[in-house]
Amino acid sequence: MFKKLNILDEKEKILHQKSEEATFPLPQEYKDYIERAIQELTYSQIEEYEKKYDLRPGMGLAFPQIGIAKRIIIIVHEYTEGKFNNYVVVNPKIISYSDEMIAAEEGEGCLSVNREVEGHIKRYARVTVEGYDTEGNKIRIRAREELSIAFQHEIDHLDGILFYDRIDPNHPFYTEQEIRLI
Ligand code: ZN
Repeated sequence: MFKKLNILDEKEKILHQKSEEATFPLPQEYKDYIERAIQELTYSQIEEYEKKYDLRPGMGLAFPQIGIAKRIIIIVHEYTEGKFNNYVVVNPKIISYSDEMIAAEEGEGCLSVNREVEGHIKRYARVTVEGYDTEGNKIRIRAREELSIAFQHEIDHLDGILFYDRIDPNHPFYTEQEIRLI
């Protein structure tokens, strides 16, 4: 039986605070939330289920968004039509990144921001993320393009940063000459 997560809105204080590192073993409760997040994010990207369960499409979620101030992120990436890769990273850190910057042309969205916020956010085109899986094994992920943006967006949540905090109010939109828009 599918039950939607209670995703907090941007007005909640926890979304503007730094989260703490998680310690191992992770409580079963956390693992259950991770499984539910993977399922919900996947469903939200499949039209049939998105409609059936009235979901907002999203590819990532960070623990503070469900009210737990711990450094855990979940990303479900549709790498090709109808095929998904799941990434769960505990205590993620960006250990290296490209010089090249990109921005999502349509801007970014967030399951905690229930309004339209326009503007480009400068992100690294490629990042390498290090962290741990749910069992505490060290993992390293290389991400590019859309997936790279997703990692940066979710890791920002762990530091209390929402995507619009990174929109330059004096220069909210970039041209193709200034940055590669994807
Ligand atoms: Zn978000």
